[in-house]
Amino acid sequence: MSDINCNFIAGEWVTGDQEIENRNPSDTSDLIGLYAQASRGQLDAALDKAQRAQVAWASYGMERKQAVLNSIGTELMARAEELGRLLSREEGKPLAEGRGEVFRAGQFFTYYAAECLRQLGENADSVRAGVEIDVRREPVGVVAIVSPWNFPTATASWKIAPALCYGNAVIWKPANITPASAVALTEIISRQDIPDGLFSLVMGAGGTLGQQLVEHPSVNAISFTGSVPVGKGIATAAIQNLTKVQMEMGSKNALVVLDDGDLDLAVSVALGGAFGGTGQKCTASSRLIVHGAVHDAFVEKLVAGVQAMKVGHALHDGTQMGPVVSAQQLQENLDYVALGQSEGAELACGGARLDLEHDGFYMSPGVFLNTTNDMRINREEMFAPLAAVIKVDGYDHALATVNDTNFGLTSGIVTRDLARATHFRRNARTGVVTVNLPTAGTDYHVPFGGRGDSSYGSREQGKAAAEFYTTVKTAYIHAGEPL
Ligand code: NDP
Repeated sequence: MSDINCNFIAGEWVTGDQEIENRNPSDTSDLIGLYAQASRGQLDAALDKAQRAQVAWASYGMERKQAVLNSIGTELMARAEELGRLLSREEGKPLAEGRGEVFRAGQFFTYYAAECLRQLGENADSVRAGVEIDVRREPVGVVAIVSPWNFPTATASWKIAPALCYGNAVIWKPANITPASAVALTEIISRQDIPDGLFSLVMGAGGTLGQQLVEHPSVNAISFTGSVPVGKGIATAAIQNLTKVQMEMGSKNALVVLDDGDLDLAVSVALGGAFGGTGQKCTASSRLIVHGAVHDAFVEKLVAGVQAMKVGHALHDGTQMGPVVSAQQLQENLDYVALGQSEGAELACGGARLDLEHDGFYMSPGVFLNTTNDMRINREEMFAPLAAVIKVDGYDHALATVNDTNFGLTSGIVTRDLARATHFRRNARTGVVTVNLPTAGTDYHVPFGGRGDSSYGSREQGKAAAEFYTTVKTAYIHAGEPL
């Protein structure tokens, strides 16, 4: 490999027509590296080779596939400190979160390694005497994975691991703003016992290379995580080729704090849910829906907690919240702060640009008070370290407010009342519900996804992933004697 970090296409590391710089959002004087941008011709070559490699991979025995996935997962976990440091350096989340993300990515691979051995079909008798039916899943073919920057290793891994587990080839286009994590994961995958071309990394701009990938007729399925407008564009492109598509997009997740909840727990759940990952999570608790009876006490503790958060360089000890990912994201966040104030919300703290020791994209975590659910800051995904408190007069009002959104990824409630918790669990219109836990933070062995504008297509993770990464075949078998 040269000084330029290359794409991995059809089994080889190759430079592209041009390259981009990758800089550290905690310290923009820190150049992480130069990253090649794949050309259209390279994309075509990757797809061509992937089709043939997929056939070879599908015929590998299940233990051979299991060994490959296990090896990737084990290495990720063993190198979580080193690769987590790289991830935090390019994305900006504190080192503990970067390390945790890489470790979790490893767990996706080891989980799906085991799933390689658990692919059971169904059988049935036919309505015709003497005929048996065998129903089994087969690989869908070549899968295009388009992943975001906010979890550059974990989100990609929860797509790549099941794609490989179920016998598919992968063409991965990561977010262009976090290419180092993509190259690191690809380097691990490239050393495995896989056919050349089974897995290709194509770095490049979403609007050009990404668009070419999702429009390509050789792609059999597309798994995407990112924004709603891009998701809708991908769905439009996919339908032209009748390509299978699965999308996880934005949300406007709500955390309800009831009058019987433990207030300290509520504050810690809100702080973690709203400001973890600098608020740049599709599962972030950006709407805090608080019962009037505890509103003032909750707000006092929340604001104190937010003001105590240490914002700093992602790799420095003691940092609780890193910078936002880019200058553009920072400007959008500050625009939302101004918008909220112009809508009549009161900024209780934070929401301002910070000038720290290093030149980075820093801002203070902010809390809006006196907000209503119809304000744009409560309807649009901000992807920012900003939370808005909405005061409600009881449980029914709280639930109605939670459900009054175009999105529906996660929601949570803090309460000691089992009846209300149960009612909430059953009536919140989101794909994930939490009780006395942050709205962010999910496991790998169970389904993940949402409703409304948050998701489209079948669920990700756990056994649910099989629905997307396979296609069902129904075989009718007759022994050969006369019917
Ligand atoms: P995008 O939706 O633009 O990007 C997500 C991925 O899609 C990236 O790999 C991107 O590539 C790629 N992409 C962009 N345009 C196309 C296209 N036309 N065809 C194919 N692929 C494409 O998100 P952003 O990174 O721009 O973030 C903007 C906002 O999106 C955030 O503020 C947040 O609200 C939301 N978002 C939500 C996420 C979630 O987890 N649900 C994750 C990330 C963002 P490239 O990086 O090269 O543009």
